[in-house]
Amino acid sequence: MQFRAPFGRKGREQITKKDTFASPTRSETLISETEEFCAHNYAPKHVVVAEGEGARVRDADGREYYDMLSAYSALNFGHRHPEIVAVAKAQLDRVTLTSRAFYNDKLGEFCKSLCALTGKEMVLPMNTGAEAVETALKTARRWGAFVKGVPEGRQRVICCENNFHGRTISIVSMSTDETARKGFSPFTEGFDIIPYGDASALENAIGEDTAAFLFEPIQGEAGIIIPPDGYLKAVREICSRKGILMIADEVQTGFARTGYMFACDAEGVRPDIYVLGKALGGGIMPVSAVCADKDVLGVYEPGSHGSTFGGNPLACAVALKAMEIAVRDDYPAMARRKGERLLAALKGIKNGDIREVRGRGLLIGVEFSVSAAPYVAKLISCGVLAKETHEHTIRFAPPVNISEEELDDAIKRMTAALSE
Ligand SMILES: *Cc1c(COP(=O)(O)O)cnc(C)c1O
Repeated sequence: MQFRAPFGRKGREQITKKDTFASPTRSETLISETEEFCAHNYAPKHVVVAEGEGARVRDADGREYYDMLSAYSALNFGHRHPEIVAVAKAQLDRVTLTSRAFYNDKLGEFCKSLCALTGKEMVLPMNTGAEAVETALKTARRWGAFVKGVPEGRQRVICCENNFHGRTISIVSMSTDETARKGFSPFTEGFDIIPYGDASALENAIGEDTAAFLFEPIQGEAGIIIPPDGYLKAVREICSRKGILMIADEVQTGFARTGYMFACDAEGVRPDIYVLGKALGGGIMPVSAVCADKDVLGVYEPGSHGSTFGGNPLACAVALKAMEIAVRDDYPAMARRKGERLLAALKGIKNGDIREVRGRGLLIGVEFSVSAAPYVAKLISCGVLAKETHEHTIRFAPPVNISEEELDDAIKRMTAALSE
C-alpha cells in the first residue's frame, strides 16, 4: 500500500449520519455488521480502519487520517514498521509457537535484551498488559509472603485513585471507576487505595502487611495526569525505606512514549518491578512482561505461574526488533523533540473551552471545560484520529516515528479543528 502524501482525497466526513436515500457506504455496512455481532464493550468512533502505514491509516472508503491515538501507545513504532514486519515474516517461516513445555531459540535473547534495557536481572513474559499486571500482583503477594514474611493471606498492595491497570476481575477490584466495576463483584481483596501524586499518603498507608505499591508514572486513562515533580523519587525513597516493592505500570508510558525509554527515567528512578506491554509488541503482536531482579522474580518455581502463549518465538522476535529500533534510532529523543513541538502548538490554540494542555514527550492531554466529544468529531472530519478519555480530555499520542512533515500537517489540521 502506498499513501499519497499528504492526503490525496477530499470530502472527508465522519460517517455518522444515515442517508436513507443513498445506499450505505462500505464503512457503514462494516459498522452495522460489527455492532450486530460484536459485544458492545466499546463505543468506537465511526471510522473503519482498513489499512495503515507509519503514522497514517486509511478507512474502508479510502479516506486518510493521521493516527494520533496509536492504539493507546501500542503503535509507538507506527503501523507496520518495515523492519518489524520483515522480522515477523521471517519468523512465520521458521516457527511461531512452542509453548513453554520446551525452550525456543528466541526467548533467551528476548529476556536478555529486555533485562539490558530495564537494568533488571530477570523477565517473566506474558501477552497482554492485564496479564503482566496480574503477574506483578502475584509476584508482590508471593514476595510479601516468602521474602518479607507477611503471613500468607494478609499481603496487601497499595494502588491509586483513578488508576488504570486493565480489565480482569482482580484489576477492576482496585479500580475506582464505577463503570469498570458495576456488576463484577465479588472482588479480589487485599488492595488499599490512596490519592495519586501524594507521597505522604503512600507513607501513611504502608502497614506491616503491605507488600507493594502499584502505580502509573503518568496516569494515561485518567486523562494524562502528571504527578508533581519529585513524586517518583519520593515513592522510590519511601518504598526502599519501608521495605515494600515499587511496581511501575509502564504498559502505556514505556518504550519512549514520554521522551524517556521509561517514564520513571524522568526522575532517574528504577522501580523494583517494571510492568510492560503495548509498544513492546512492535504494533504487531500482544507482548507483555514483568521485569525485576532475581530476589523478586525468584519467588516462582515451575508450575506456579505461566501462559501458553507467553514467550512464544514470534512475539520474542518482534519485540527484540522493536527494542533494537527504539535504542538504535533513539526513540526517546524523537519523542522529546516532537513532543515539545506538538505541546507548544496545542498550547497556542485559542479556544475558551480549553482548560489545560499538558504532557510529557508524545503523551499529551488537552482538557476541555466542556464535553470533548464534539471536538473529537471535528478532529476526525479534519483527518485526525483521536479519542477522548473520560469526558473532558483528548489524548494525543502519535507514533513516535511520525515524520516532521506529517507532524506539521497534523498540527495544522488539529489547530483548525480545535480553534474557536
Ligand atoms: C492498556 C494498559 C493496561 C492493560 O493492557 P491490555 O493489553 O489492554 O490488557 C495496563 N496498564 C496500563 C497503564 C495501560 O495503559
